[in-house]
Amino acid sequence: MTITKGIASPGKFLVQADALVDLAVHGKAFGANAYLICDQFIVGRVHEKAMPGFNNEQRAELAVFGGQCSDSEISRHVEAARGADYVVGIGGGKTLDTAKAAAHFLGKPVLILPTLASTDAPCTAISVIYNDDDTFNRYLFLSKNPDVVLADTRILAEQPPRFFAAGVGDGLATYFEARACFAAQRDNLILGNDGKMLKPTLVGFAIAQTCYETIKKYSTQAAFAVQKKAITAALENTIEATIYMSAVGAESGGCAAAHAIHNGMTNVHDLHGAQHGEKVVFGLFTQLVMEAAPMAEIEEVVDIAIAVGLPLTLEDLGLKHFKETEWRKVAELACDKNDTMHNMPFTVTPDLVYDAIVATDALLHGFKRQKAVH
Ligand SMILES: [Zn+2]
Repeated sequence: MTITKGIASPGKFLVQADALVDLAVHGKAFGANAYLICDQFIVGRVHEKAMPGFNNEQRAELAVFGGQCSDSEISRHVEAARGADYVVGIGGGKTLDTAKAAAHFLGKPVLILPTLASTDAPCTAISVIYNDDDTFNRYLFLSKNPDVVLADTRILAEQPPRFFAAGVGDGLATYFEARACFAAQRDNLILGNDGKMLKPTLVGFAIAQTCYETIKKYSTQAAFAVQKKAITAALENTIEATIYMSAVGAESGGCAAAHAIHNGMTNVHDLHGAQHGEKVVFGLFTQLVMEAAPMAEIEEVVDIAIAVGLPLTLEDLGLKHFKETEWRKVAELACDKNDTMHNMPFTVTPDLVYDAIVATDALLHGFKRQKAVH
């Protein structure tokens, strides 16, 4: 059996204020005809800022995203974009996943301009496909990561603070999950040509480490900047961490318990209003408890979470009543053989996860009392 290690990344990742204005400039290398898939809320801004750049030599057709990253929505854009030279996705995670999938099926380049920094969608070679009724369908592994990712700091400074914080939550988990996966030399999230996932590399792990260091240094300052829609150096650095390093670190470094527990938590009805990154950070604390991590390490993550305004306890995430059967089910789902729990460097059982969840929630309540957070 051959074991292949690997790293994957977008071709280019650019951090620029008003990148939207220069969209045609960034796309020029890929041909004359662009097909733009945009979220409804940003269509007016795209018309105003980006379209003037598409003059006689360059053309752009603008399509509005239908709201769901489903097979039918992707097919619609594949048909409409046949004559284009490249595809552009502008919007939230589902819009970007649709643009990436359409470009993948067409074999065309794709440019991505995220309007939120809350998920890893902009930089990865994975699209999450949903059914039309919003239930999860499958992960679609794409032939490559996006050709260009444009982080427009003007747009990202204006995202709601809660989405910014959720991106920090998702980014916080990257290092700890990669650390577990690297220690065990288990699978990362890059699909090899032989149909097997690759193993983590040193550089993938190094990016995950830098992701954590960057968030630790700059995310508090950046959270205040986002409250005021201000572009600062700390915001730029945090965006680099939450959009690029978080995605490449997770994809190349691998996920472990935090995301597996998050996936189990998606079945808890009370938590449906919680963001991906908000649940991931609870999954992260649970992973740290499973590992018996040093208190200083846990407290450092708690302090960052509080500083950026992330919810901590299950109650903060929206849970009204703790039902043992419901959380036993979460623990069981987190240990699903197809999920990333098996990337932990020790044997994990549903009982162990359940006990860790209960102990973590108590620990987080304790931190809140100690730090007088309400
Ligand atoms: Zn995530």
